[in-house]
Amino acid sequence: MKNSPVLIVGSLAFDDLEMPSGTFEDVVGGAATYSSIAASLLSPVRLVGVVGKDFPESVLSDLRARGCDTAGVEHADGKTFRWRGRYAPDLGSRETLDTQLNVFADFRPKIPASFKSSPFVLLGNIHPALQLEVLAQVEKPKLVFADTMNLWISTEPKLLAELMTKIDLLVINDEEARDLSGIHNILKAAADIRKRGPSRLIIKRGEHGALYFDDAGAFFAPAYPLEEFLDPTGAGDSFAGGLVGYIAKMGDTGHQTMRRAMYFGSALGSFCVEGIGPRRLLEVTRGELDKRMKAFTALVETGGPVVLPE
Ligand code: AMP
Repeated sequence: MKNSPVLIVGSLAFDDLEMPSGTFEDVVGGAATYSSIAASLLSPVRLVGVVGKDFPESVLSDLRARGCDTAGVEHADGKTFRWRGRYAPDLGSRETLDTQLNVFADFRPKIPASFKSSPFVLLGNIHPALQLEVLAQVEKPKLVFADTMNLWISTEPKLLAELMTKIDLLVINDEEARDLSGIHNILKAAADIRKRGPSRLIIKRGEHGALYFDDAGAFFAPAYPLEEFLDPTGAGDSFAGGLVGYIAKMGDTGHQTMRRAMYFGSALGSFCVEGIGPRRLLEVTRGELDKRMKAFTALVETGGPVVLPE
């Protein structure tokens, strides 16, 4: 069914970002925030997460104005989750300086009754036990996407192994793929991970693009080349949001739609990095997205099959 809603579960946060261009504090962030902003350009979103008393209501009303149902955002007594990161001068890597779970520490996702039949589910990077709790509450989604991180790969291998058997698509970066499989070669790591459950797998490689694996084989989508590159925070989550938003819009989960969705994910990731926090992403219009997709197509279009000349 076209124009299907996407259920997105994950963190809503305040981020403190130490960038080469300066330090930016109290930036509204969180994986679910980035994914929801990106997905809502293409499809209706149903958001589930938790915020504290300090989280601005205006952020939630802006999300609602974009077609994002925030009925699943719990308002807890306390402070919102906070993450502080410092980026390398070339923005190619970062270190986490501080993570304050705050209201996230006691978060147990409660999926509103009206969200339970969502055909597409994106499980943002949260504790795998909570990701499993979400899956126990939803009714037969068409496709379940999940993200995870090194922390859960090392501390919760059993729960993660269980999660693998219950999802359709895992989205991780190359370092996480190596940690999860224990295999350095990316193609071998991908094959190993797919054997553990998810029939589809995406391995993100930052500015070097992303690989998609399914039964039809491997597929590559480059990152869109940019002149202005300010802040990579949330690019991966924007990628995942754009990807699932496109699939839900098309209502089709076939491998060709998936391959095209990779380009939408990549385009949304590229908008994300053009501003500090989600600033740029929030301003993107459908017209700008359309323009970037055309530029992207031109970038990879060869005008015909690339074959060896006679
Ligand atoms: P990304 O750059 O795509 O990895 O996502 C960055 C976002 O993830 C930031 O906005 C953070 O608030 C959020 N984040 C960082 N650490 C965690 C964590 N342990 N659990 C959930 N969200 C997190």
